[in-house]
Amino acid sequence: MNDFPTTARVVIIGGGVVGVSTLYHLAKAGWTNCVLLEKNELTAGSTWHAAGNCPSFSTSWAVMNMQRYSLSLYAGLADEVDYPMNYHVTGSIRLAHDKNRMLEFERARTMGRYQGLDIEMMSVSDMKAAYPFLETHDLSGGLWDPDDGDIDPAQLTQALAKGARDLGTSIQRFCPATGVTQIGDEWVVHTDKGDIRCEKVVNCAGYYAQRVGEWFKPYGGRTVPMTVMSHQFFLTEEIPELREWTESNGRKVPLLRDVDSSYYLRQDKNGLNLGPYERNCKAHWITPEDPMPEDFSFQLYPDDLERLEWYIEDAMARVPILGTQGVGRVINGPIPYAPDGLPLVGPMPGVKNAYEGCVFTFGITQGGGAGKVLAEWITEGETEWDMWAIDPRRYTDYTDQDYCDRKAMEVYGHEYAMHFPHHEWPAARDKKLSPVHDKVIAAGGVMGAYNGWERANWFAQPGDDTTLKSTHSWEREGPWAGRIKQEAENVRDNCGVLDLPGFSRFNLTGAGAAEYLRGLITGGLPKISRMNLAYFSDTRGRILTEMSVVRHDEDHFTLITAASAQWHDFDVLNVRLPEGLALTDHTTEFSTLVVTGPKARDVLTAMGTDADLTLGWLSHQAVKVAGQACALLRVSFAGELGWEIHAENDKIPALYDSVIAAGAKPFGMYALNSLRIEKGYRAWKGDLSTDYSLFEGGLGRFVKLDKPQDFPGKTALHNEKQQGCKKMFVTLIVEAGAWDAPYMSTIWHAGEVVGETTSGDFGHRVGKSIALAMLRSDLTVAGTKVEVEIFGTHCKAVVQADQPLWDPSNDRLQR
Ligand SMILES: Cc1cc2nc3c(=O)[nH]c(=O)nc-3n(C[C@H](O)[C@H](O)[C@H](O)COP(=O)(O)OP(=O)(O)OC[C@H]3O[C@@H](n4cnc5c(N)ncnc54)[C@H](O)[C@@H]3O)c2cc1C
Repeated sequence: MNDFPTTARVVIIGGGVVGVSTLYHLAKAGWTNCVLLEKNELTAGSTWHAAGNCPSFSTSWAVMNMQRYSLSLYAGLADEVDYPMNYHVTGSIRLAHDKNRMLEFERARTMGRYQGLDIEMMSVSDMKAAYPFLETHDLSGGLWDPDDGDIDPAQLTQALAKGARDLGTSIQRFCPATGVTQIGDEWVVHTDKGDIRCEKVVNCAGYYAQRVGEWFKPYGGRTVPMTVMSHQFFLTEEIPELREWTESNGRKVPLLRDVDSSYYLRQDKNGLNLGPYERNCKAHWITPEDPMPEDFSFQLYPDDLERLEWYIEDAMARVPILGTQGVGRVINGPIPYAPDGLPLVGPMPGVKNAYEGCVFTFGITQGGGAGKVLAEWITEGETEWDMWAIDPRRYTDYTDQDYCDRKAMEVYGHEYAMHFPHHEWPAARDKKLSPVHDKVIAAGGVMGAYNGWERANWFAQPGDDTTLKSTHSWEREGPWAGRIKQEAENVRDNCGVLDLPGFSRFNLTGAGAAEYLRGLITGGLPKISRMNLAYFSDTRGRILTEMSVVRHDEDHFTLITAASAQWHDFDVLNVRLPEGLALTDHTTEFSTLVVTGPKARDVLTAMGTDADLTLGWLSHQAVKVAGQACALLRVSFAGELGWEIHAENDKIPALYDSVIAAGAKPFGMYALNSLRIEKGYRAWKGDLSTDYSLFEGGLGRFVKLDKPQDFPGKTALHNEKQQGCKKMFVTLIVEAGAWDAPYMSTIWHAGEVVGETTSGDFGHRVGKSIALAMLRSDLTVAGTKVEVEIFGTHCKAVVQADQPLWDPSNDRLQR
């Protein structure tokens, strides 16, 4: 009898650890009518040869959540599914060579402890005691992660597979998917054994994900942004000293990560396993001469230890017993990299009912959590934790293959690098340029990439140090600091101009557009010729996104949103779009100049305009400025009198020349951040995320529970309103010292953690370090004293009244 399934709720393509974990989590959620297709045997891709290291450490809150979940799952999995596994929890030590690295560790420790992990800082003598073979003379200290260890990746995958099968799902091995066809909202996945019709499909094809992704292009998809790198580790022969130590102590030595030198070193039986991430790294299958083979199952690249020479010597100096024995076995395998080194987990951009769980560089430690996250996306359409950090929609159309390859090489070669707040990674830049890019550079713009768009972060003056080296610091001070202050003060006293290419903008038209929007947003719509801020909630009442809604006519809108939100927010608007409405993306056709400061009206007048500059806050008008047709929007994220000039790209150079000639001085994104935080204006995916509800986020004034439309999250928000919030948004003034509070710094009160910061910066108009934060509700009374833990230092802070710190009555906006 042919028992090949012909229908399923979900088909997963790829039987590595991630695909199988997704199947397991779907089954646990009750979705047992699901099928996984594996072209070869399970684990045939990258999974079988992985070293199996399982750190919880991450400097990303979301990724740490995912890894933490994996480790707790793995700890109980063998018993849960009755499949014994080799999982050694040895703990790990990260080595710090300098103070900056110790600060990074302090920050990760703070986040880890907030997530319930027992991560600890280590002194040099602690490290020597925990790892007697370690040379420590040149170290500053380290970080102890007690939950780190290593798992057998094949056994892990088989255990998850057993759990999934026991719950009723189907795994089809030696059954490659060969293509997909969309029929209505459903899919047919083709195989040589027959077709499977399903509601949803998931690309978990590991290093083949780009190839599988191409099948979705006719249905709105894009090329999966990724590059396959080669990653090697080698195992030594048995080391007698290690065997003796292990026998007398009854355990393995902890896993070591020398993150400044860039390698891990782990005990494997009684030998060592060294795995470097080398600067002189190698991408594979990126040229026509080196095509990706049809099948690479259970295969490896040839050994290439020469590339690792520096790292081997460094590791032998650090742990001299490493050099006492020869190399036993070398593993050189394919490892996929997305341009930022994080995986793609979530909805497939542009394609309905399709998902991605691929491009994992740390798929063993992330696989458990990724399966949970994907299963949530598939079964509920939203996730427990905000997972924007790994959402595939964080990349848009600028990730051509050249970009992916150059970024992958950069990220791989700096796998353990510190991500300093004023540092911009240099590879593969200039993907999207403003119409006045050259003018901004000529004015001294020190650039940063925002969804591929180059924007000035600050403006250097002759003699300022703009080297990358100068940015290797966590501190507020640096060559940029004085310039940010000048730029912010100029906006306060005169008029500044910010060239802001890449604002995402969508047009929505058609009879019923207004009613459609009312059914999506939590609040009300602006009147014709007005604009307002609108919030979108998920079904749990949490902040999905924020857009500016510009109303041209009864059923004609432009929606403007953050550059990085382009594909995410288009999905939010498009997902339930009724027949008859047209939603179109005009992001690349227009650009924006922000003109703001008390002299902004004088500047616009001097530029020559037919606009009515007396029209109030949140007005918009189609006008001419400096002879150029444009739209003037009366808003300012900087919190001063101001307008945004929105115009077609070819009009921007004349507008820019004119605004400068009229006396406006350029300012950059860093100054804008400082200015907005003094007003308490929230930034997307820091202050505004699905980790918080609208009420927690202090956005209650944008929620109309009494409107007739049943917008997503209405019931949840209604319930929350009755029950009250456990946490609330506050502004804090912090005695911050050298650093402003980074995202997810913990807040302390009476010896307990009572909240966390969502963003921090120095406000030059108020002369104080400011943090926006979520705080236990009973402590949100103005004047309450708390402490913010910034890089391990407890800094005094005071809760502020629920109003902007700068210009609390908004007089300056209304002038
Ligand atoms: C040398 C090395 C060491 C590593 N060490 C670690 C480590 O210590 N810790 C860690 O966390 N990570 C490590 N990694 C990374 C880890 O191996 C990967 O991140 C992980 O295995 C990815 O799992 P996956 O399920 O996404 O992909 P894969 O394991 O590659 O699985 C994808 C599967 O899809 C199948 N497939 C492809 N196309 C089709 C199709 N058309 N139809 C059906 N099936 C298809 C493939 O056969 C494959 O089995 C290491 C990687 C390397 C190279």
